[in-house]
Amino acid sequence: MAKIRVMIWNEFYKERNRDNARAAYPDGIHEQLKKALAADDLEINTAWLDKDEDHGLSEEVLNETDVLFWWGHSKHGEVKDEVVTRIYKRVNQGMGLIVLHSGHHSKIFKRLMGTTGNLVWRDVGERCRIWCLDPSHPIAKGVPQYFELEHEEMYGERFHIPTPDDIVFATWWEGGELFRGGVTFRRGYGKIFYFHPGHETYGSFYNENVIKILANATRWAAFEEEHDYKCKNVPAKEEIKSQKIDYVYGE
Ligand code: ZN
Repeated sequence: MAKIRVMIWNEFYKERNRDNARAAYPDGIHEQLKKALAADDLEINTAWLDKDEDHGLSEEVLNETDVLFWWGHSKHGEVKDEVVTRIYKRVNQGMGLIVLHSGHHSKIFKRLMGTTGNLVWRDVGERCRIWCLDPSHPIAKGVPQYFELEHEEMYGERFHIPTPDDIVFATWWEGGELFRGGVTFRRGYGKIFYFHPGHETYGSFYNENVIKILANATRWAAFEEEHDYKCKNVPAKEEIKSQKIDYVYGE
């Protein structure tokens, strides 16, 4: 069976410029995710903001990507609009997208949602309890009813997103807030998962349950050509790419 081609994109700024982020992720968040998600059925590559003039996401690279991870925070504004448009098209063509933590304010997430992505936040490193609301969902496979992270940045409601297709996880915070922290959407042929853990100074991407969820999400978000094409009247992957569809508003 063909491997799922995964591209982990990380802004990769704070780990090179802030001691506390470097201490948590010495080689960058993308390298930790690559290491933690490694599996026989995945081919994992990485890219970052200043990798090249396309942020490592040229048309060719994206055409060969099945699932894209996105971690960004302080440099959202430096991501080129033409690259965002490229990702937007690929998601509509069936590329999976997994948006992590502060990616809620990334250009690509806001464009796909059509909302601000705003939320309330507080960074005092408090404890959270992540509840699985949808145990039969493929992303929840093998995940306990709840698990805790000792230190995370609080993200809370109201989270300005469209009503999700699935709320797979919701998070309780020590300070009292609640958050729809693990949610799915479909745009065109593409599947999107947003998951809140992953502040750059804490170790959430070393947590086994966080990694299990991201590993499940990778398989869930990958375009199921064999299955969808034969059973659900979805065009083959290459056929979708050749379709002339006016995907992009504002052009
Ligand atoms: Zn953060």
